[in-house]
Amino acid sequence: MKTSTLRIVPLPTEVAEEARRAVQSGAEDHTVIMVDSATGYPCRHCLRWAQPGERVILFPYASIPAGHPYSETGPIFVHAEPCERYDATREYPAEFRNGRVFRAYNANYNMIDAEVANGSKLEAVIEKLFQNPDTTFVDARSVTRGCFTFRIQRA
Ligand SMILES: [Zn+2]
Repeated sequence: MKTSTLRIVPLPTEVAEEARRAVQSGAEDHTVIMVDSATGYPCRHCLRWAQPGERVILFPYASIPAGHPYSETGPIFVHAEPCERYDATREYPAEFRNGRVFRAYNANYNMIDAEVANGSKLEAVIEKLFQNPDTTFVDARSVTRGCFTFRIQRA
C-alpha cells in the first residue's frame, strides 16, 4: 500500500460504543457471543481476531447507507469489552491479509470494481483499484461470508 496516499478506516469508536450500549439495553438485533475460534470473529474496531474466551457483539451495520442501489446492511462483530481502535492507519491490518475481497465504490456509493487478493498481492490490487479516479473508497469484506471488515480511503 502506498502508505502516503491511502489510509485504513476502522469502524468508528462511536459505533462500537453504541453497540455495547444496545446490548446492555437488550436490543433484539444485538447479541453477545463467546468466541470459540482464533480466526472466526474479526473485531472491526481494533482490527484483530477476537480470541477464544473473549466475548464479541454481533449486530447489523450499514456499511453502505440507505438510499442507494448498493445500500447494504450486514452482520459484524466488535469486542464486547472496550478495545483500542486500530491506529496504524497507514498499514494494512496484518491479521487480515487472507480471505478478503476488495470492492471499489465511487462517490455515489455505486460499486464499480471488485477483486479478491491475498498475501503479498494485496497492496498491488488495492493500489490498482485506486488508480481509477472514480474510486472514492474500497471496502474489504470476508470472501467467504461477505461481511464488511474495514474501509480504505484516499489519505
Ligand atoms: Zn476489538
